[in-house]
Amino acid sequence: MIRSIRDLDITGKKVFIRCDFNVPLDEFANITDDRRVRSAIPTIRYCLDHGCSIILASHLGRPKGVVDEKYSLAPVQMRLKRLLDKEVLLASDVIGKDAHDKAAALEAGDVLLLENLRFHKGETTNDEAFAKDLADMAEVYINDAFGVCHRAHASVEAITHYFNDKSSAAGFLLQKEVEFSKNLLRRPTRPFVAVVGGSKVSGKLQALVNLLPRVDKLVIGGGMAFTFLKAQGLNIGNSLVEDELVEEANRVIEEAKRLGVKLYLPVDVVAAQTCSQDATIKFVTAQEIPKGWMGLDIGPATSRLFREALADAQTILWNGPMGVFELEKFSKGSFKMSHDIAQAHATTVVGGGDTADVVARAGDADEMTFISTGGGASLELIEGKELPGVKVLSTVEVE
Ligand code: AMP
Repeated sequence: MIRSIRDLDITGKKVFIRCDFNVPLDEFANITDDRRVRSAIPTIRYCLDHGCSIILASHLGRPKGVVDEKYSLAPVQMRLKRLLDKEVLLASDVIGKDAHDKAAALEAGDVLLLENLRFHKGETTNDEAFAKDLADMAEVYINDAFGVCHRAHASVEAITHYFNDKSSAAGFLLQKEVEFSKNLLRRPTRPFVAVVGGSKVSGKLQALVNLLPRVDKLVIGGGMAFTFLKAQGLNIGNSLVEDELVEEANRVIEEAKRLGVKLYLPVDVVAAQTCSQDATIKFVTAQEIPKGWMGLDIGPATSRLFREALADAQTILWNGPMGVFELEKFSKGSFKMSHDIAQAHATTVVGGGDTADVVARAGDADEMTFISTGGGASLELIEGKELPGVKVLSTVEVE
């Protein structure tokens, strides 16, 4: 069981909250989707209600261990001010003098945001000294950053070495994510269908293998489907493919057969010669992708086939778009999938930033049972893996 912030005595204390403020920004550094900031508010408010002073920390993008203004958390500071309707300070560094001075001067009800954790190399290398420097600022550690819990990073893992089970716990967002996924795993109502898409097989292959024994049907769309289609001997033109994984894809197909899992792959695609909005498109069967063309979305027959496969589902897990949904021309397959899942009489769980984005744009967010904020993390949790960031906050369960 993961320890909850409710189990701790935090009244009047200085609390460090690891948040996931890794929000998308446009070219003018405006936040285009503030869901991640909004979902951190309940834990922050709870701390404010308990007279705490608060230090917030997060990463944003991949600044690779050096200070890069492009990845400053300043836009997040502005949004937090508005959402909390109070002053939020921004430190000009992470563990430097400004951060430490500001953290030391905090009084009850004050909120301080540190600069991007990944301005330091120590964050991603799980560096002890860096973690201790962060830990020194506070008396209580709260992790509410589900999206990074599958990574052993300093602000997620090493930092907990400086707190104990009375001074470290999960925030409400993390607690909700973990409990939901565990329940889903323990007793999914069947048929349980996993719909997987997105660009890379490499990132999700292990997840597919681990999911196979748990699901009744596996639906594969998006760019990753082409590695499977190639494994079946089809000519996929210039479609996205990971040649070195064709063998593995074959093993997944064989394993699905052995376990009696029904595996669904696209039967037609929307093909183009270039991945651009003004490209000429063709609807072709998976068997007839012309040389030099690539599949960039699932076709209409596939949408119908997948809808049929979902019709009797009682539990649906969706991770990864069905096509290049960022371009309107190749977004229909993903939007249709979103509508079909939203309309299913099933427990519906959506994971991953891109997929959550599709669901929001399709206007289906309210219809889903649960939308997870973390992509990789949610997939790993549902596969039954123990996440490093969750493990360190867990109390051994007595069955
Ligand atoms: P991932 O990060 O692996 O979940 O992949 C998400 C990305 O996959 C999105 O940005 C989509 O544009 C991309 N994608 C989905 N389908 C395709 C496809 N058929 N070809 C190329 N990219 C795709």
